[in-house]
Amino acid sequence: MLPEGCLSHTMQFVTTSPILPPATIGILGGGQLGRMLGLAARAMGYRIVVLDPDPECPASAVADRVVVGAYDDVAAACLLAAQAAVVTYELEHVGPEVVRAAAESVPVRPGLEPLRVTQDRLVERRFVEAAGMAVAPWREVSTTEDLRAAAAELGMPLRFKATTGGYDGRSQIRIVTDRDLDGALARLGRPPGEAMLLERELSFAAELSVIVARGTDGRTAVYPPARNTHDEGILVESLAPADLPAEALRAAVEIGEGLAAAMDLVGTLTAELFLLEDGSLAVNELAPRVHNSGHWTIEGAVTSQFEQHVRAICGLPLGSTAAHGPTAVVNVLGTGPARTARIEGMADALGDPVIQVHLYDKHRVFDRRKMGHVTASGDSPDQALGRARAARARLRWAESTNEEDATS
Ligand code: ADP
Ligand code: MG
Repeated sequence: MLPEGCLSHTMQFVTTSPILPPATIGILGGGQLGRMLGLAARAMGYRIVVLDPDPECPASAVADRVVVGAYDDVAAACLLAAQAAVVTYELEHVGPEVVRAAAESVPVRPGLEPLRVTQDRLVERRFVEAAGMAVAPWREVSTTEDLRAAAAELGMPLRFKATTGGYDGRSQIRIVTDRDLDGALARLGRPPGEAMLLERELSFAAELSVIVARGTDGRTAVYPPARNTHDEGILVESLAPADLPAEALRAAVEIGEGLAAAMDLVGTLTAELFLLEDGSLAVNELAPRVHNSGHWTIEGAVTSQFEQHVRAICGLPLGSTAAHGPTAVVNVLGTGPARTARIEGMADALGDPVIQVHLYDKHRVFDRRKMGHVTASGDSPDQALGRARAARARLRWAESTNEEDATS
């Protein structure tokens, strides 16, 4: 019997010669990150094939072809790989068997190791600590008894997180008092016996993120870190370059570079960090991909994170990560019940000429769904942020018209 992969033998890759346009780039995942990656790749003359369960996913509009399949569909991944010179992913929740199968016929970048490390929060904690970097004090727990014992050791408040599948603040709960420990496993929605992460909730001075690109030759290029604001776990604002002490920013860059090298990653890596009251940094989460907190680079940096990722995975030299000046991004989240997405207030938002509005063409809007973002430049961080917020406030999602929602 053949192995589960696409080929019965492993091909040798020549990793030194670049993959040049009009080669096709395969993207696992067709959400907004895939869409913006596709736009950047297309600008450089590459062709795009996307794997996504939804044929009308945000990236479909910029893809030459969409392979319709689940993120763990090995046959669909083989079909994608057969059409591509290199495969990448826009989300870390893709099945490892899918990546392994694709990797039998083409290079998959950033690679399997970065996925292995970042798909599981416990593996990630151990990896970061082994690389010599700080994380919030944590314990692995799998039963209510473990949870109680670990909570007593760590002290309140706590964050209780499922190890896999979490994003935008999902799959984690806050534990503030002993009473919150009752039924916590059930509230997390994971079966007893499964490994889970319990960690101290840190009282941070700021959240920041650093995006590192690393090429096939091991060279890195790091963006100025961004300062981020979350609302119940969803990123709502990013400001770059972060208006934080230079020493913290230098340390953040070092952490990013160190982790990318430790993973032997080719592509982009995002590290989400906490700046603590004492000026030290703790690593919160890693993503081996382009990231929401890097959207400012589209207009605000010499090379966007999306173009940079394409350069890295295609074996081309990396571009400058220099910022043009203070740049702010405010996310456009959905509001209200699920319905057909129609934006209002676009002309008002664009009334300020330094504003850019990005919409991801998601056909349905619902509460807190990431639908787009607004970018503003400014002479100062406060001015950029003020302009982006003001423009964002002018955008809203139209109420449903019943006929539309009956047919969509
Ligand atoms: P997700 O995968 O949903 O992004 P994160 O672990 O990054 O999960 O958590 C989302 C947000 O929740 C973080 O950006 C931060 O604002 C908050 N958070 C998570 N863990 C902690 C913690 N240990 N201490 C303080 N805040 C936390
Ligand atoms: Mg996060």
